[in-house]
Order: sequence, then C-alpha cells, then structure tokens
Amino acid sequence: MVIRKSARELALMREAGKIVALTQARLEEIIKPGVTTAELDALAYETVTKLRATPSFLGYRGFPASLCVSINEELVHGIPGRRVLEEGDIVSMDFGAICQGYHGDAAITVGVGKISKRAQELIDTTRGALEASIAQARKGRHLGDISWAIQSYAESRGFSVVRQYVGHGIGRDMHEDPQIPNHGQPGRGILLKPGMTFALEPMLNVGTYQTRVMDDNWTVVTEDDELSAHFEHTIAVTDGEPEILTRL
Ligand code: MG
Repeated sequence: MVIRKSARELALMREAGKIVALTQARLEEIIKPGVTTAELDALAYETVTKLRATPSFLGYRGFPASLCVSINEELVHGIPGRRVLEEGDIVSMDFGAICQGYHGDAAITVGVGKISKRAQELIDTTRGALEASIAQARKGRHLGDISWAIQSYAESRGFSVVRQYVGHGIGRDMHEDPQIPNHGQPGRGILLKPGMTFALEPMLNVGTYQTRVMDDNWTVVTEDDELSAHFEHTIAVTDGEPEILTRL
C-alpha cells in the first residue's frame, strides 16, 4: 500500500530532506584527488549528527558506514574505506538521514578533477533523467510515466538503465511501497496522488545494464566494468508542482 503523508509528516520530511541536501553539498565541496572515501564518510557522519539527525544507512542490514561511495564502474552500495580518489574518477555518493522518525534519501555523482567527455555525458544524462522523472511526479499521472521518463531520456542519449535496483516510496521507512523501476511503460501502474513521497533514483550505465555484486557482498558493479552514474532525490507529489525535499 502506498502511504500518503499528512501536512505534518511532509513538514518533517522537509527537515530530513534539508539535512540530506546540506550533507551532500558539504561532500561535494571536498571532492578532489587524494581524498579517501573514509574521509567522505566521516564528514557525512559528522555533518548529520551535528544537525541532530541519524544516518539512515549506518547499520542498515549490517551496512558498516553512513555513506555509500561508489567509484567508476561501481554502481551503488560501495563501502567507504582507504581508497583514494584519483583525477578522472567519478564518485557516486548516496546518503540518507532520519530526522524525527522520517527519512530523506539522495544521491549525486561528481567528477574528480578533469574527467573524460564520456564520463561527463553520463553524469549530465543521469542528472537529466532524474529531472525528467521528477517532472512526471504529478497528481493524475501514473507511476509508469516516471519510469518511462527515465528510460526514454537515457536510451535516446545512448545510455542503458539499470533494472536490478529501483526507486521507492519513502517516509517512516527508508523503503516503502511502491517500487519504482527506472524502465517501464507510460500510463501504467498506480495513479499518483498528493501526499505520496518517492525516492526517484536513475542509475545509468555506459555499457550493459547488467550488474553483479562484489565479494564484499555490498558493492554493486557493472558486469562489463564500464562507468555508471546515480542521482536521486526524495520528492513529494502535491496538488501542483512536484516538491523536491532533498534540494536546498
Ligand atoms: Mg534510495
């Protein structure tokens, strides 16, 4: 069942979303060659706890960090550690926070120093696919319109969309109904109504959309080791324009 949030609940989700956005902004500022992924994780933890919120991912199903850091061919769920960012890498940072019982969830992909033209196109297209999907998150549209917006935007620009990992409802739980695939057909699926809150999260690949999980049982990589990017926002369907909760 898709839970529709009350005005009070939306106000709390706005707070959680703002904290996530502030954390992402601070992370983006320190990205440069030589920074370790553990330093990114430490900054995320420090930022969120100072704002009196709790990282959503820390301990989730045993995940050992506050931030997922996924580099180059890594798609999602990368574990921060000693790895040092290098010029030309692209880094996806996925971060969630709980504030007064409600979650916000967002992801960005950032280039380290100078990156290849193809990597920049991938990042720009993934961000664009997210924007295109948010534009469909309106009263009276269907869930499939969101999925189709991502797929059509990505594929028409020569990138593939990951099937195995999806967007989701969000609120008191980080993952609520419905699941929101990044591919699908327009006009299908549930009717969107005000008060529904979703984490939309296109994951786009340069090569195949197939993925596999590494030996650490967390890090997901592309099967062909080509680049992948990930953007995510938590949004609310309203009576009018979609509201982006994880944007400052
Ligand atoms: Mg998510």
